[in-house]
This record gives sequence, C-alpha cells and structure tokens, in this order.
Amino acid sequence: MGMLERIRQVEARIADACARSGRNREDVNVIAVTKYVSTETAREAVASGLRHIGENRWQDAEAKWLSIGPDAVWHFIGHLQTNKVKYVVGKFAYVHSLDRLSLAEELDRCAAKLGITVDCFIQVNVSGEQTKYGLAPEQLGAFAKRLTDFPRLRVAGLMTMAPFEAEAEETRPVFRGLKRLRDDLNRAGTLGYEVKHLSMGMSNDFEVAIEEGATWVRLGTVLVGKEG
Ligand SMILES: *Cc1c(COP(=O)(O)O)cnc(C)c1O
Repeated sequence: MGMLERIRQVEARIADACARSGRNREDVNVIAVTKYVSTETAREAVASGLRHIGENRWQDAEAKWLSIGPDAVWHFIGHLQTNKVKYVVGKFAYVHSLDRLSLAEELDRCAAKLGITVDCFIQVNVSGEQTKYGLAPEQLGAFAKRLTDFPRLRVAGLMTMAPFEAEAEETRPVFRGLKRLRDDLNRAGTLGYEVKHLSMGMSNDFEVAIEEGATWVRLGTVLVGKEG
C-alpha cells in the first residue's frame, strides 16, 4: 500500500473514532513516527502533508533531521538519555518522555543556552509494567511541583504507552487513567497553567486512545509503514 492510501485510511479511522466519541477532528493531532523507515520515506511522509515527525533515538533521527530539518515539526518520543539532550534541544519542538528531574534539569539548561523554551510531556507509567519508563501515577503531583523550578520547560501534557501486546480494548483503562491524572493535575493547579494535551495511542490502539481523549496520537507502522 502506498503512503497516500495509508494516510487516507488512517484519516478515515481517526474521523470515525472522533464521531463515535463526540470529539472534534481538529482536536486530534497526528505524529508520523518514522523510526522504522528510511530518510527517503520520511521525506515522502512530509511531502505527503504529514507535518509532525516523531523519532525515539537521536542516533537514528540525526540523518533524517539533517535532511528534512525545519520542513517538519519534530517530536522526541523515546527514552531520552541525559547526554543526548544537547542534540535534541533546538531541533525537537516537543519531548514526550520527561520522566525524571535530572532530565528536566538538563533540558532547562540547554534551552536557556539557546534562549528558547521546550514543550514537554510528562511520561507516566499508568499500566505499571516494569519494562516501561515513566513516573508512577502517585509521583506525578510532586514531580510537577518540582518542574516549576525550570522556567524553560512548559508542560504541554502527559504521555503514556499502553501494554504492547494487549488487545486494543484492554488499553482503555490505561488511557482513561492518563486523562484522569491530567484532570487531577489541572484541578490542583500545580503548574499555574492548564495542561492540555494527552499523548497516547499507537498503531494498534489509537482509536481507543482517541475515544478516551488523546490529543496527540503517535503512529508509525499503520501510517508510514515499517521497512527492513
Ligand atoms: C515506535 C513508537 C510509536 C509508534 O509505533 P507504531 O506501533 O509503529 O505505531 C509510538 N510511540 C512511541 C513512544 C514509540 O517508540
């Protein structure tokens, strides 16, 4: 299947999920995750109108970033090692994997150097799987409070990953849990501004995520394919 056909099919599925749950299509943003494809295919994705590109390792993203650069808006979606932050800040508009204070500190330091702010998603391990990165839900409030020490970081939202092998329907409580955490955080007013976004939903579970309030879905295989 070609890129345009894939985009068309995903778009129809997103529209259906929005219709089922009474949501506006404009409130759901799509990140094309290009980690499984070549630079050429990533360029094709951007040329086909996909504006937001997601990568999970700087080592793999570098060639694509050098080739595509500011023609796309870049999202860092994977675990971010502190020693890679200096490459990512200034190139990636969003970091979806903020999960520890040492990372916040380094992001803030690099952003200050460039005179910019970085939009972050706090990653929460809602499912509690040991293999997953992210804060435990009960740590979120205290962590958010500490983030107010870092003026260069803006919390755009929360991010989670559902259990990978799960049937799509089994992921619903995880997505619902992330939404509840965001609402609790806003009710507590910890950050002094509204935390709007929910980054949740991948190829195998994005429709359920949308039904549960996702505002960013991160789509690799189903949207841009998988090569090699
Ligand atoms: C790889 C990846 C995705 C996309 O995966 P697909 O299942 O191919 O859609 C989304 N989010 C994160 C954090 C990823 O690492």
